[in-house]
Amino acid sequence: MLGILTCSFLSPILRAQAPLGVPEADERYKVDILLVVAHPDDEGAATPYLARAIDEGKRVAVAYGTRGSSGANEAGAEQATALGDIREIEARRANAVLGIDKVWFLGGKDTASQDVLESLANWGHGMALENLVRIVRLTRPEVILTFLPGTFIGEDHGDHQAAGVLATEAFDLAGDPATFPEQIAAPLRRLEPYLENLRPWQTKKIYYFPDADKEDIFRERGPKYSVREISKSAKLAYWRVALESFRRHETQAKGFIDSLAKMDEAQIEKMVMSDGFWGSGISFVLGKSLVGGSVKGDVFEGITPGAIPFTRPDTAPPPTKPEVSVELAGPWNYYAEFRREHGLTHLPHPEPPEIAQQAGGTFVIPLWLGNQTSESREFTLSANLPPGWSPHAGPLKFTVGPKQVGAARIEVNLPALSDPAPKNPEPQEISVHAEANGRAIGDVKIRVELRKKSLPE
Ligand SMILES: [Zn+2]
Repeated sequence: MLGILTCSFLSPILRAQAPLGVPEADERYKVDILLVVAHPDDEGAATPYLARAIDEGKRVAVAYGTRGSSGANEAGAEQATALGDIREIEARRANAVLGIDKVWFLGGKDTASQDVLESLANWGHGMALENLVRIVRLTRPEVILTFLPGTFIGEDHGDHQAAGVLATEAFDLAGDPATFPEQIAAPLRRLEPYLENLRPWQTKKIYYFPDADKEDIFRERGPKYSVREISKSAKLAYWRVALESFRRHETQAKGFIDSLAKMDEAQIEKMVMSDGFWGSGISFVLGKSLVGGSVKGDVFEGITPGAIPFTRPDTAPPPTKPEVSVELAGPWNYYAEFRREHGLTHLPHPEPPEIAQQAGGTFVIPLWLGNQTSESREFTLSANLPPGWSPHAGPLKFTVGPKQVGAARIEVNLPALSDPAPKNPEPQEISVHAEANGRAIGDVKIRVELRKKSLPE
């Protein structure tokens, strides 16, 4: 109390003598790269590249969507929120190996689902986005690196996709002074505790890393970095620096970490480089560049110091739909809109759409039935399935009123896997045939790969 009284008493006199300078943004928090991922240990998708970038003088910050509290624990008995407390520390220690100390958590909750919409709902989409926009304005990154938003076989975690969605939204919004304006506003009174006095910041480039099994659609879509060069600072190969960082995630990989202790360097290299880990290098997919540069050029190609103006995304117009239509709903429909909304229609995505599902379960195909005519329409849906797969019910009938869109679903009983399970399983195609008032209006296709285990769709 005494201190406050003294200050407020003195400040008018000080101001009268010499005007106070306007404080600048804190340079200590300015970074070149902001990595946005979902869980502690996800940073491993980029650490060999980050180690290289840090060697080249780049500054890095990391934002995690969740604290990983619903993961497994190989190191101790702790679960749930207590496990999240541990994993937050593991993430900080893993980043510290690379010299990264700017590490933030967006406050989302782990979500055991492949559906990005469930993750966004469970994270508290608005709050998590507000937190991430704040971190972008605080750290003013030149480049954002994040998961590629999309449903792919192999990318079976909606949380990873949610990190990519939020990072894209923050890329497009943090430069807009009308977005979360309370972060931009300056306090007018001393000790005014709500307004944040940040500045809008337009990040220059966003790159994605896909987590899909098959890489063909991502090839040649961005830069690729070898992990074998020797780090100048650590005197180790970049993959080895990344492995040293990963070793901090004891709760997630104690068995693996213990096995490393029993190997010599040559054995470790053989395992890590052949394990689908980092052996093929680190590849990125260029999402957007507001400063030019080539698709496969270096991440920092075209980037010069200083702020650039806020740029609204190049939104693509919605496709024209026939008067009566059928389309895949759920995350697939969302991602089509997401790509149009954020100027990312070039982002690779499988056609037809695909997903991995647990064998022996039920797969639900969500559909939108559109009727722009002025009369009701009766839709009939039937599924064309691979041998051994069976529909939950026969042909399904739905009535959709005039100028309405109806939500429909088809359920498919998935067979058990053959024993032994096929080594290189191929996705099977499901096709849904739709008719309206007896006339064919279209077929919706989706490819499904059966797995021993997978998160629910
Ligand atoms: Zn993860």
